[in-house]
Amino acid sequence: MDLQLALQILMNFVIKLLRTMDINLISDTVTKPSKKMLKSMMDAKVGDDVFKEDPSVNKLENKVAKMFGMDSALFFPSGTMTNQTAIKLHTNPGDQLICDKYAHVYNYEGGGVSFNSGVSCKLIDGERGMFNNEQLVKAINPPDFYHSPKTSLVCIENTTNKGGGACWNLNELKLIKKTCLENNLSYHLDGARIWNALIKMNQDPKDYGLIFDSISICLSKGLGCPAGSVLIGSHELIERAIRVRKILGGGMRQVGYLAACGIYALENNFLRLSEDHLKAIEIEKTLSKLSYIKKVEPVETNIVIFEINSKISSQLFLERLKNKGVKIISMGDNKLRVVTHLDYDNLMHSRFLEILNDLRF
Ligand SMILES: *Cc1c(COP(=O)(O)O)cnc(C)c1O
Repeated sequence: MDLQLALQILMNFVIKLLRTMDINLISDTVTKPSKKMLKSMMDAKVGDDVFKEDPSVNKLENKVAKMFGMDSALFFPSGTMTNQTAIKLHTNPGDQLICDKYAHVYNYEGGGVSFNSGVSCKLIDGERGMFNNEQLVKAINPPDFYHSPKTSLVCIENTTNKGGGACWNLNELKLIKKTCLENNLSYHLDGARIWNALIKMNQDPKDYGLIFDSISICLSKGLGCPAGSVLIGSHELIERAIRVRKILGGGMRQVGYLAACGIYALENNFLRLSEDHLKAIEIEKTLSKLSYIKKVEPVETNIVIFEINSKISSQLFLERLKNKGVKIISMGDNKLRVVTHLDYDNLMHSRFLEILNDLRF
């Protein structure tokens, strides 16, 4: 066989391989641990964390608390449990929390706000999951008017999930803090994707530690861990959080394997998030040039939300992509979502852009 023919066969094989490549863009939670990450887990020193004797968990909790300049932190299996615990700690049954209409705590935690805390939500009609201080002031119920629920907590989300990965302005967050202090309200940050905001806005986590009463972070999104979340706050708050975590069934034993993975992720997968952001912007650019796309929401971090022309059903679009090995997700209202992540590499990226450009309706 001559060299040219061999090369031809090899090229055809590579092209075929690219064509059959699975590209999963439904969420940044789909990542699988790399060999190095798995090794960090295998090497972890562990103990019984319910007795606070797991050195890896203790190390992760100290590391995260220090990063945000707060007293204390507590490891949780999921971000939902972290948020739910924070809400329980800041409220009493019958109270009301204030959040944006897009908030994860309202839309995607299975109604846990009412199930776990007996609390209702007052929704603010914000922009891309964010609101301003004036809107908040209007949403607070007068404390002496006993006919309405007592407002006791404000929850904000950074970056916003349903809002398309948008980042809050720190000054607005500080104005809201002032309102919280004046009205005796607790202030919780759902920071499942705070890492993306920190990178995008070039901020210091300590800026957030100064503002919020509690912060929840996720290790299982952009950072690429298989599981894990951390609640950060004062000594007093975290001491109370241990009891709530126990009640919710979140007390785990030799969980240092996951904590070690979290430490690895913070050290290796944090600064690289800008690569995910760059890819998302390139996807935004490609989408905005396509005739069958109606609108692309401005991309700030790793989430791209867009609408296709009403003549084409999103179902058909999703199917056509699926046939090419690409999975993305529908957000309802003809809106679709793409999320870039650690396991979405350069090769997949060029292939995805090529697929988008080649689609005809
Ligand atoms: C993912 C996410 C959470 C937590 O979700 P889990 O799947 O329970 O870890 C919380 N808030 C936001 C904004 C999220 O995107």
